[in-house]
Amino acid sequence: MSRLVVVSNRVAPIKEGKIAAGGLAVGVYDALRQSGGIWFGWNGEVNKNPQMRTETVGNVDYVTMALNKTDYDQYYRGFSNATLWPIFHYRVDLARYNREEYEGYRRVNAMMVEKLKPLLRPDDTIWIHDYHLIPFAEACRMSGIRNRIGFFLHIPFPAPGIITVIPPHNELLKTLCYYDLVGFQTECDRLAFQDYITREVRGVIERDGSLTAYGRNFHTGVYPIGVVPDNVRQLANSYRERRHLVGYNSDGRRRKTIVSVDRLDYSKGLVERFRAYAAFLENFPEHRRKVEFIQIAPTSRSDVKTYQTIRRQLESEAGHINGRLSDLDWTPLHYLNKSHDRRVLMGLFSRAEVGFVTPLRDGMNLVAKEYVAAQNPDDPGVLILSRFAGAAQELSSALIVNPYDCIGMAEALDRALRMPLAERKDRYEHMMQAIRAADLDTWRDDFLRDLQSFTIHQAVEA
Ligand code: UDP
Repeated sequence: MSRLVVVSNRVAPIKEGKIAAGGLAVGVYDALRQSGGIWFGWNGEVNKNPQMRTETVGNVDYVTMALNKTDYDQYYRGFSNATLWPIFHYRVDLARYNREEYEGYRRVNAMMVEKLKPLLRPDDTIWIHDYHLIPFAEACRMSGIRNRIGFFLHIPFPAPGIITVIPPHNELLKTLCYYDLVGFQTECDRLAFQDYITREVRGVIERDGSLTAYGRNFHTGVYPIGVVPDNVRQLANSYRERRHLVGYNSDGRRRKTIVSVDRLDYSKGLVERFRAYAAFLENFPEHRRKVEFIQIAPTSRSDVKTYQTIRRQLESEAGHINGRLSDLDWTPLHYLNKSHDRRVLMGLFSRAEVGFVTPLRDGMNLVAKEYVAAQNPDDPGVLILSRFAGAAQELSSALIVNPYDCIGMAEALDRALRMPLAERKDRYEHMMQAIRAADLDTWRDDFLRDLQSFTIHQAVEA
């Protein structure tokens, strides 16, 4: 088995010799341990003299570096998060383009390649993650690195009409053709990319399904990221016995709980969700006082302006709902603007009657899968899921909603809260089948198997 080298914008921090858990971290950790390898990326620090640091745990080297202020502003805060993130999530209205930021993005990718190069062995397999590092393989090839290189896009790939909004879209997407395998969360994302390649740059689809464009042949594939269902359930069980996580009525009966957990991001549809909840309480007053909605939304990317705006908007929306509808003994909406431990979240999921997951766009949305996996099979809750989350492709037995349809979402809340046990179980079982069939190990193993087995038709250019 060849050694694995993983490159992602952030390397998960190591605490007490162990990797701190998170989707990507857990997903690649086992593979890294099995084959030995390197995890390379930014350590999250911004300072003048970015030095490389290596921490070795077992047979894995965690190699990290800081970014200087200019690189951070242009590569991370600028082109990655103020251009690519909004456009890839269809929010063209929130995107900006600045040529210096794009150049900074390219420069940081090239700089990271130069730092990684001395650590590489000829038979290492290299796996690059996400939108921060699209040009990484091209920079590798220019630098003479000939290893197999795969790329996985964690976020959606938008329709060609949207992606062409990025002024250097041609130059940027050309760099994706330097990978040997480009992986997407859903077939819809893969087809959007294939559409771009065939229509915008006159690439061709080969008989084996691979693509040829810009004189390069490469493969694409669909690898939906998943969860570890047994681990989710275990966490949920270990927590829920010990604490009261949800509210009670004055008569001692437990209130029904609707739960949502998202990074505070405009792609998550939080404002639309709050408004739908308000419409639900207005249109279905019989649920008032019997239900509460817990929204956990830890702040993210708070130094990007659009994130400050969405935060203010949400605070005002939450204040408005509670001001109008609360009573002395009932607060309809609990808006918690801080991050929570996974154990608490899984415990909360397992106790909540409804998981309300309604992003406007999302590559996958792991919370949707975690909510289902945390349920008690004998009395499961109901998942309400946006059709625009990648997870909706697999979890078609959720109550699928359109997050732009306020009343439709309010009706789905009413339906979920009234749903009979037999229907809840039926939907839960279907969803669990899908979650088990595409768990986190499958995601990683399928991607790495394909990366290592595809025949590459064309000798890699130096
Ligand atoms: N999460 C967490 N604590 C929090 C909020 C979220 O551990 O306070 C976890 C959550 O359980 C999930 C992940 O962060 O595993 C978020 O992944 P998702 O795909 O839903 O959204 P993303 O943040 O990647 O857009």
